[in-house]
Amino acid sequence: MIIKRKSLPLKLIGIEALSRRLPANHPLAQNIEEEARRIRAGENGERILESVFTKYSFPFEHYILHDLHLQSTGRFQIDTLFISRHSAVILEMKNIAGRIEFPKDQKQLTRVLENGKIDSFECPSVQLERNMMLLNDWFYANGFSIPIKGAVVFPRPQQSFENIRKDLTVLFPNEIPVFLRKPEETSPSLDSQTLKSVASKLSFSSNEYNPFPLIKNYNLSLSELITGVRCEVCGTHGMHAIYNGWGCNQCGHSDKYAHIQAVVEYCMLVDFKLTNSEVRKFLRINSRDKVVRMLKKMGLSYSGEKRGAAYSVNLKDLEILLEKKIKLYSEMIMRRPVRN
Ligand SMILES: [Zn+2]
Repeated sequence: MIIKRKSLPLKLIGIEALSRRLPANHPLAQNIEEEARRIRAGENGERILESVFTKYSFPFEHYILHDLHLQSTGRFQIDTLFISRHSAVILEMKNIAGRIEFPKDQKQLTRVLENGKIDSFECPSVQLERNMMLLNDWFYANGFSIPIKGAVVFPRPQQSFENIRKDLTVLFPNEIPVFLRKPEETSPSLDSQTLKSVASKLSFSSNEYNPFPLIKNYNLSLSELITGVRCEVCGTHGMHAIYNGWGCNQCGHSDKYAHIQAVVEYCMLVDFKLTNSEVRKFLRINSRDKVVRMLKKMGLSYSGEKRGAAYSVNLKDLEILLEKKIKLYSEMIMRRPVRN
């Protein structure tokens, strides 16, 4: 039973927005783009891992938790945790293209791409061992005693490996169900009720680390970013306010909800607190009243009155706003007349 799904990839959404809002000739532009690519590969891998569990069922009591963010003796993130009465199994996805080699006596992994390029990464066994230790500490602190196992998953079944470490279990997605269904040699360590309470406590304790505002992390200032409301069709920043929405001068597209993304991006990149004048500058509009109506409609909480009002959001608000945006857009597409 899946009790925690993967949450929206907020960090990726933020870093992609930062990459779009940095001028192409900015000294950090390439680094940010590279970072976005790396996070996107990780996200895609985690989606593949998540999809394995929607296709298979397991004939024994179990709980599946995706994308767990926990804190024990340190902060840690687990891609997927499969917990049964016998054990807790950590699955970590490594979406690394190319031929994978495990150099002897090094806690590293190297990959060789078809063009001959070689890159080194931390060996997944290091991360797995660290996560197993931190999860063990979490169980201990919460009064549970559960054996922990772990495996690393690579998404491409055609991928080749050299010198896989003997102490590391490497799986492809289609091997996961068989691995998890292997008969256990020991008797169960949990009864049904305890299993259920561990699973719900894990899910309840999961608290995503807040990576925002991003410009602070990269030592950037707001003045280095491209401001304006972005047109989803042609990618131009600088849609202008029209009656009931936004219009694009470049491609003629009009969009009722384009400001939602811009406000979300302001929060992710610049600040979780917004004032009317900051939003006006970032969205490049003059009307104070339009901003008041917009922010009110978005349901942002605020303190202070009239000109002194400051709006504030948190991570949950961002998720709700992004989900609302996705819903509004899908309704818009569904309402469009079908052309034959
Ligand atoms: Zn456009």
